[in-house]
Amino acid sequence: MSELNLILLGPPGAGKGTQAGRLTEDFGLPYIGTGDLLRKHVDQESELGREAKGHMDDGGLVPDDLVIAMILEKVDEEGDDGFLLDGFPRTVPQADALADELEKRGRRLTAALLVDASDECVFKRITGRRQCSDGHVYHVEFDPPKYDDKCDRDGKPLTQRKDDQPEKVKKRLATYHRDTEPLIDYYDERGLLRRFDGAQDKVKVHDHIRATLATLRLEERL
Ligand code: AMP
Repeated sequence: MSELNLILLGPPGAGKGTQAGRLTEDFGLPYIGTGDLLRKHVDQESELGREAKGHMDDGGLVPDDLVIAMILEKVDEEGDDGFLLDGFPRTVPQADALADELEKRGRRLTAALLVDASDECVFKRITGRRQCSDGHVYHVEFDPPKYDDKCDRDGKPLTQRKDDQPEKVKKRLATYHRDTEPLIDYYDERGLLRRFDGAQDKVKVHDHIRATLATLRLEERL
């Protein structure tokens, strides 16, 4: 088996999405971003979107069964060229479901990549984040647009995601510590955890992850 089946773990705002974009290019991996998929369902007002919206706006988690079904459909759609999951699993039942379903398909996880950063660091990053409707992302302090509140690339207005407001971020962090952080031990015990320092510069984090994945891929081929 030489496919890389990877998940990204870590608090919101640690840079998982940024790293995912680069890694999918480097390794030609299909990217499956749970938050983006759910937001699409919300925009399209699908049945799943209507169920998910309240939980998402509130900074809580969408129920496991809904998210598991959505992700497995995507994993099957992508075939067996590997995958990079961002934002899933986020709970132990989701992790168990993923392991069981991969096993049924004769597949397994290659590694869980933990991009970690302190609450203080991610709080500052997330609450300053602004984006246009095409998903181009800025930061009011670290990466401001040339003109206030407009996207440099397409001139569209920049807004703050509802769940990026300070009170919601506090709730998302509490949810992360309670429901998702146990997955660090879960994957460590299974020998799958690889740790990266998300507080570092994004190029450094990327170099570190890329080197780790290159080694993992070589090992998979042996
Ligand atoms: P994200 O963009 O990854 O921060 O996700 C945004 C929101 O989508 C989260 O705050 C949750 O409400 C919901 N969400 C994303 N992934 C999951 C998941 N694996 N399980 C449950 N809810 C999720």
